[in-house]
Amino acid sequence: MDLNFTAEDIAFRAKVRAWLQANMPGKLQTFEDRRRWHRKLYDAGFIGMGWPVEYGGQAARPMQQAIVAEEMALAGAPGYLNGLAIGFLGPTLVHHGSEAQKQRYVRNMLTADELWCQLYSEPDAGSDLAGLKTSAVRDGDDWIINGQKVWTSQGMVSDFGMALVRTDPTVSKHQGISYFIIDMKSPGVEVRPLKQITGGAEFAEVFLTNVRVPGENLIGELNKGWQYAQTTLGYERGGSILQRATAFRQQFNRTVEVCKTLKRNGQPALEDPLVRQKLGTILVEIENLRYTGLRILSKLDRGERPGPETAVDKLNYTELHKRHTELIMEILGPYGYVDVGLPDELKLKETADAYEPGTWTWDFLYAKAATIYAGTSQVQKNIIGERVLGLPKEERADRARLRAAAGATRTS
Ligand SMILES: Cc1cc2nc3c(=O)[nH]c(=O)nc-3n(C[C@H](O)[C@H](O)[C@H](O)COP(=O)(O)OP(=O)(O)OC[C@H]3O[C@@H](n4cnc5c(N)ncnc54)[C@H](O)[C@@H]3O)c2cc1C
Repeated sequence: MDLNFTAEDIAFRAKVRAWLQANMPGKLQTFEDRRRWHRKLYDAGFIGMGWPVEYGGQAARPMQQAIVAEEMALAGAPGYLNGLAIGFLGPTLVHHGSEAQKQRYVRNMLTADELWCQLYSEPDAGSDLAGLKTSAVRDGDDWIINGQKVWTSQGMVSDFGMALVRTDPTVSKHQGISYFIIDMKSPGVEVRPLKQITGGAEFAEVFLTNVRVPGENLIGELNKGWQYAQTTLGYERGGSILQRATAFRQQFNRTVEVCKTLKRNGQPALEDPLVRQKLGTILVEIENLRYTGLRILSKLDRGERPGPETAVDKLNYTELHKRHTELIMEILGPYGYVDVGLPDELKLKETADAYEPGTWTWDFLYAKAATIYAGTSQVQKNIIGERVLGLPKEERADRARLRAAAGATRTS
């Protein structure tokens, strides 16, 4: 692993920093404001950087993507739109879609002229995604889709969705799944927003009733959807690794500032040995995260595919963020909930989604989300157990436990 930035990377970082200084927007009030900011980032070449040049990308190295993401976090720059399309749905289409599909959809993903959602999870298929039941049945050249998806982020504003559906119920569950593009404006698509603990509703239930989808919307080959979904999942991480460590560090710095202002037993909270110990633990974990991130990035930069260490990274950063926001709420006490009494500069910056702008509470509540999506913490632990530590597979471990229990019953 190489933890040093090259001269080229250092020059690139300076260029990105200068651009951000010159172009940082004021407060983005409306969706159109966000679209304009997105377009500016796109025109500057900072969106879809790793994508092939012929589809609007820059074929940039993962390290350069990470540098842009990190500089944006440092500057407190608002994020871009269409995150699912740009992060992994688009790359999946570039890998497995037809030329006609790429020409039709890919550029509009990057410019965010068309917004996309991911139609994977169902009420009975989350961690066990291959258990999905939404079906597609052929009707002439078209397909008729019936079923229900859930937790569809941005479902309410999306123009298109990429859906995993069952096209052959007679084979084993991982086979017989296909990957379709669904026009979210089609008759039979009903999107019902789900209210979240933060007060916002950023995801939805999607009911699909006799939705007619043209055959040309099938991505790749029939019944190869599970294989293609692995490409999508593989892209769910990557360029944002350093950004996360940096964003956490920024948040940590603000926590320290708060601890200088808030009093505990008549002293600044920062003087309290318990507060210092807890803050110290978080800081070590943030640095740890940064080095794990650099390890993955350095592999990606050499053109290697990171292995199961991405599960360690996902588990670490999501659980760390949760612990950190819990600690902030513990230190702030009632101030954390009612959001009064703190000088403006100590409040969190407005989040991109801005349901409760400027509050620590929002972040505390939202921090739970990442421990669930893209594979829950428990699922990451299974992956680490089985693929990093070489422990027996979950089912086999269960069977061994049952056998041991049965044996214990017999001898007792
Ligand atoms: C904010 C947010 C956004 C999301 N956006 C999308 C989206 O855009 N599109 C989409 O398709 N989905 C989306 N999801 C859904 C997400 O992928 C699922 O919630 C996730 O895969 C977990 O599935 P589940 O909710 O059905 O829980 P379940 O799989 O039912 O799990 C319930 C509990 O059991 C545990 N568990 C399950 N299996 C095992 C096991 N084998 N070993 C140990 N423990 C286990 C889990 O860890 C969890 O604690 C989103 C979720 C969230 C929170």
